[in-house]
Amino acid sequence: MKNIYFIGECMIELRATVPSTLHQSFAGDVYNSAVYLKRCFPQISTSVITALGEDNLSKKMRERFASEQLNTDYVFAHNSKVPGMYYIETDEQGERSFIYWRDDSAAKKVVEFISPGLVKQLSSGDMFFFSGISLAVIEEQARAQFWDIVKQLKAAGVKIVFDPNYRARLWDNVEQTKAQYHSAFSLADITLPGVEDLETLYNVQSVEAVIDYLAPYNINEIIVKNGPDSVITKEANTVQSHSITPVKNVVDTTSAGDAFNGVYLGARLDGRPISEAVKLGAQAAGAVIQQPGAIAPKDVFQQAMAK
Ligand code: ADP
Repeated sequence: MKNIYFIGECMIELRATVPSTLHQSFAGDVYNSAVYLKRCFPQISTSVITALGEDNLSKKMRERFASEQLNTDYVFAHNSKVPGMYYIETDEQGERSFIYWRDDSAAKKVVEFISPGLVKQLSSGDMFFFSGISLAVIEEQARAQFWDIVKQLKAAGVKIVFDPNYRARLWDNVEQTKAQYHSAFSLADITLPGVEDLETLYNVQSVEAVIDYLAPYNINEIIVKNGPDSVITKEANTVQSHSITPVKNVVDTTSAGDAFNGVYLGARLDGRPISEAVKLGAQAAGAVIQQPGAIAPKDVFQQAMAK
């Protein structure tokens, strides 16, 4: 059985629906990717590595992971922290605004739970995924240990996968981000950047410029996403362009990239060629952006994927 680990943070999502009513859910980039991967490729063992608390919402979150058939063996419970949370509101013009409470979340402590014995267990895996958000969430003093873990997994043959997913507000400054991203690109076997993510950091403004920027790194598989525009992939020295069918009825673009990542990686683990993996990833992303929130209802999603 193939297997993949997603390390990072899942938060409590509170979405304003009708006035004075909040809809409560769970979301976070790595979790979103794990859900969509597993929904499309149930035969792939899909684990979330994170830390929650011992409170009731943490228990519900763990139950939600399990109800999505995700492996919860590496979902740890911190004895004094609680999960991060965010509030999302959409105004009459369709503009979204967010408020976050995540500076002291349990997930910031996740590296503390990764023992040498656990690294050994993870070493038999096929892929280890982290994002720029995962990196920002991990506490600064734990990052050296994190990179040591990533190096051990890579040495054991686990493919390292990185999506830069840049969120400026999670970092102290750009230099700090760039230093972490340099380590990530240096170790990555697969990377899935969006053009927008890298534009602010490195002033690259096109898919071609992203490919050029990453050329000095030894990354075997590069997938550059660009909203409704073509996805460009580079495997070894082969560059390919894959057209995307733009969605007319975009409701909420939250987690488009996450859905793409999860389904793309699932397809690759399933042995599909890059062109087919892009097609499936884009189909999943296209379905997700026609629904509100990060996680589309399962039946709606499955129907869209069956087409
Ligand atoms: P992110 O969510 O990381 O910002 P992008 O906006 O680049 O990512 O979108 C990720 C993927 O979602 C794209 O590669 C594409 O497959 C799909 N996508 C995004 N916007 C659209 C759209 N308007 N129409 C169709 N597909 C889209």
